[in-house]
Amino acid sequence: MERFDVAVVGGGPAGSAAAHAAAESGASAVVLEKGVPRADRPDRLGPDSTDAAGILDYWVDIMDIHPDEMPDDVVLSTLDRAEFIGPNESLILRETGFDTSYDHFGFCMHRARFDDFLRNRAETAGAEYRVNVSVRDVESDRDGSPRHTVRLASGEDIEADFVVLADGPQRQVTNKVLDRFLPFDITDRLATTKVNHIAYQEHRRLPEAVARDVEGAIKFWWGYMPGHTAYPWIFPNDDNVARIGLTMPIGMDLSDIEAREKYELLRESDERIPNGKEYIRRLLEQEYGDEYDIEADFPIVEGRGKSKGTETYAISSTRPIDSPTDVGIAVTGGAMGATSAFHEGGDHVAVRTGAIAGELAASGDLSTYNDRWKAAIGDEVRRNVAFADVVRGYGPDDWDRGFAAARKMMESSSDKLFDLNMGTVRAGLSVGRVATQYKKAKYKSRSDKYVQLSEDEYAYADS
Ligand SMILES: Cc1cc2nc3c(=O)[nH]c(=O)nc-3n(C[C@H](O)[C@H](O)[C@H](O)COP(=O)(O)OP(=O)(O)OC[C@H]3O[C@@H](n4cnc5c(N)ncnc54)[C@H](O)[C@@H]3O)c2cc1C
Repeated sequence: MERFDVAVVGGGPAGSAAAHAAAESGASAVVLEKGVPRADRPDRLGPDSTDAAGILDYWVDIMDIHPDEMPDDVVLSTLDRAEFIGPNESLILRETGFDTSYDHFGFCMHRARFDDFLRNRAETAGAEYRVNVSVRDVESDRDGSPRHTVRLASGEDIEADFVVLADGPQRQVTNKVLDRFLPFDITDRLATTKVNHIAYQEHRRLPEAVARDVEGAIKFWWGYMPGHTAYPWIFPNDDNVARIGLTMPIGMDLSDIEAREKYELLRESDERIPNGKEYIRRLLEQEYGDEYDIEADFPIVEGRGKSKGTETYAISSTRPIDSPTDVGIAVTGGAMGATSAFHEGGDHVAVRTGAIAGELAASGDLSTYNDRWKAAIGDEVRRNVAFADVVRGYGPDDWDRGFAAARKMMESSSDKLFDLNMGTVRAGLSVGRVATQYKKAKYKSRSDKYVQLSEDEYAYADS
């Protein structure tokens, strides 16, 4: 049977970064990626690269990879602002407020090419990256040698001393593996329909004038769709093409929505929550329908994205989990819930957590992993958790109030909003009433209280 120091389940940003770091540190490492056909990677199978692929300036430093290190065709456009649009109020932010090594507000990238760059980087460092290899399960014996047997769908097994779980927010392998170390059913805490949001996006070519208007801006509409952390957005790419998408909770019931007439993207005739495609159609009609024929003037670009210019994928909704390091397992990136649906961002924390896991696994000791990832991304997570909590019950009027207050504050002060990040940027929240709530929520999530499953809850008796 084949044996590696480190086996990595999933070959997205977290998995590739883990393999790169492990190989750089001298370990034998293998990435096992099931392989997904994508229109934007037509020549070969690769990881599932669904993403709006916007990166803010300070994420570059969290990720610890500067765009200068990437091939030229990865960055599609640079950003100079974020626009937040409420039903009646709006806000434009031109700075994130962090001192960073990246000169622009952010950039949008070609996610499949970014993933391929990370894969090449890992392979160059000496890791093996296997595609078309689906992992079925990982069986672990804490005191065994090797400790892990990775069971593949092909029927083959691979042995490893350390396993990095990087299978993304759907956690098909992660949940099965962690369940064995928990005294309760993993779905009590980490049911994917509860801890994830759904995200949908379309790649559309914009009319020239609209493309000029959107150039350099990521745009978010808050208070237009019901549900916590539910919003549509536009991210400009290249060649007048933009990703137009949305994020919303899974399985919402329209009858639970209060004051539904206030949501611009709902209709009186709706019998259920509209699907992503319908929401995007309504958004475009509302914003541009007076001047344009949406289907004719904003055509879907079929060669981009996953298939036929559209993609639907789960995205984790904010709270990360600790890993059972004692048994030699690190959970990383989307699988650990490090992506925040609240600000859509996850590539930076996926790369960083993957790199930490790979480096420690190669050193033969994962015991500091949970402390290390908290030191690296804890502030980012804490901000996102606190803001998601603050705006959880917001309706359209609350968003208007928040944007109006934030704008006033910006107009009357040259100070930056308090520790701005994409969460604050997107929410466009103000000092004052909201700031107090924010501080309280942040206080509540101080230390590592934001963790959804902590290390001391794992029990290894049966492993
Ligand atoms: C619509 C959308 C928009 C987003 N926008 C942004 C954004 O603008 N900026 C940003 O930073 N982040 C964004 N994100 C989040 C970002 O995509 C994630 O944070 C990131 O992909 C997480 O990386 P990962 O490596 O942990 O997981 P993933 O990228 O999900 O990779 C997991 C990999 O594991 C593989 N896999 C799964 N199960 C198995 C198995 N059993 N065997 C083998 N392989 C397996 C999958 O095929 C996949 O390739 C967005 C996400 C979505 C869905």
